[in-house]
Amino acid sequence: MRFSVITLFPEIFHAYLGAGIMKRAADKSVAIFDIIQLRDFATDRHRTVDDYPYGGGPGMVMKPEPLKEALTYAKRDGIPTLTVLVSPQGKTFNQQMAKELSEEKRRLLFICGRYEGIDERVRESLVDEEISAGDYVLTGGELPALVIIDAVVRLLPGALGDEDSLKEESFSWGILDYPQYTRPPEWNGLRVPEVLLSGNHAAIARWRRKEALRRTLKNRPELIETAGLTPGEIELIRRIKEEEYESDK
Ligand code: SAM
Repeated sequence: MRFSVITLFPEIFHAYLGAGIMKRAADKSVAIFDIIQLRDFATDRHRTVDDYPYGGGPGMVMKPEPLKEALTYAKRDGIPTLTVLVSPQGKTFNQQMAKELSEEKRRLLFICGRYEGIDERVRESLVDEEISAGDYVLTGGELPALVIIDAVVRLLPGALGDEDSLKEESFSWGILDYPQYTRPPEWNGLRVPEVLLSGNHAAIARWRRKEALRRTLKNRPELIETAGLTPGEIELIRRIKEEEYESDK
């Protein structure tokens, strides 16, 4: 899958995408990255990419002309492209969106804002989707773009060493992941739950499901409403609530 990014800070992408699973995905051509320096498309001597906002107010706004030129350059090969503006005003990114983007046939092209954001006319005429990383404001769109790229790339076939890890992680079941343990069996006075050492796969699966539900109830109870639980899982929730009630007494 192809990813292009328009940014004032390409080095942020080279650092992150040059390590770990992102690097491996690029080495295997599972993901192909094209990182474009917006400033290269400024036309004046000072390579200016921002200007004062019409109507006054604090900060600067990213000028439309260099952005349009950079977008034209990014699409120079004619490959169909989905242009994404990362912005706190977009739809909040989640695992479902990551899944949908990972199934996109088009190249994903990200525009990373800086300053007070981009000229509205670019958003109106050249952007297909606007995506937010969450309800907070960062100084630039580089981290949100990387968050989206990372979440999408790890879903691409061949990106992870063991694709089974995708099946049982947070949100893939509609709920959070279960607790994980590794050796040693006792550490700092805390023992690994006996069932995980038992070799009984059915009992381990039941325990994990229950602990995932327990964790979701505690940290993200709203996910339980939309998780589409089976009657067995609803019964597990009833038991968890009973257990929590008993331990609070
Ligand atoms: N004035 C803008 C507003 O209030 O919506 C915020 C601009 S922010 C300082 C600069 C750039 O960072 C934005 O144009 C956007 O590209 C990026 N950004 C900041 N927070 C973000 C978030 N939560 N999700 C996605 N992008 C974000």
